[in-house]
Amino acid sequence: MTRYAIPAPPQPSVAILGSDARFPVRRIFCVGRNYAEHAREMGNDPDREPPFFFTKPADTLVEDGAMVPFPPATQDLHYEAELVVAIGTGGADIAEDAALSHVWGYAPGNDLTRRDLQAAAKSLRRPWDMSKGFDLSAVCGALVPVTSVGHPARARLTCTVNGVERQSTDIADMIWPVPAIIAFLSGLVTLCPGDLIYTGTPAGVGALTHGDTCTIMIEGLGSVSTRIG
Ligand code: MN
Repeated sequence: MTRYAIPAPPQPSVAILGSDARFPVRRIFCVGRNYAEHAREMGNDPDREPPFFFTKPADTLVEDGAMVPFPPATQDLHYEAELVVAIGTGGADIAEDAALSHVWGYAPGNDLTRRDLQAAAKSLRRPWDMSKGFDLSAVCGALVPVTSVGHPARARLTCTVNGVERQSTDIADMIWPVPAIIAFLSGLVTLCPGDLIYTGTPAGVGALTHGDTCTIMIEGLGSVSTRIG
């Protein structure tokens, strides 16, 4: 038994739909620009790039129903509705045709973003960490196991703010679908059980303000709601 000099930090985890067990989270990877219309709205050409990735610390996770205090150091907090993939079995250089066998489950998620800090980072050619990986920035709904939902290839993904629809797409419209994302990412790092992958957001991103309730819903996977305090 390892003796730690200070109390060991808690293990980040997310809920599992219909179970008392929790899914332990190791790392959080996120795909940038995975829907063509969103790439265009951010001023990029969706056809020219392979997928790229950034990360959030695992302890930035936020569960359904939580209140997120308006984060510091931003005037422009944005929602990003996304499909979240949970990795159950790891691997490196995973082939696309084997990729889905590594998936444990799926959830709706919200990649909260300090858009003004991200814009500054882009223009200064600096890292995105502080725009993407801040406290309480990784909203994740309860995971739905593959054993109950399979691997949804098409499903409506929506974001509403105070009941008004702001984003709507089908996950089938991803530029890089889940098997391709897993193949690319596992060529960059060895994927491990407990890793989450946020798979990118469609067009329609926008700001959240104090008192807003933001709900991400994916057909067949339920929803995740966050109130901004
Ligand atoms: Mn995102």
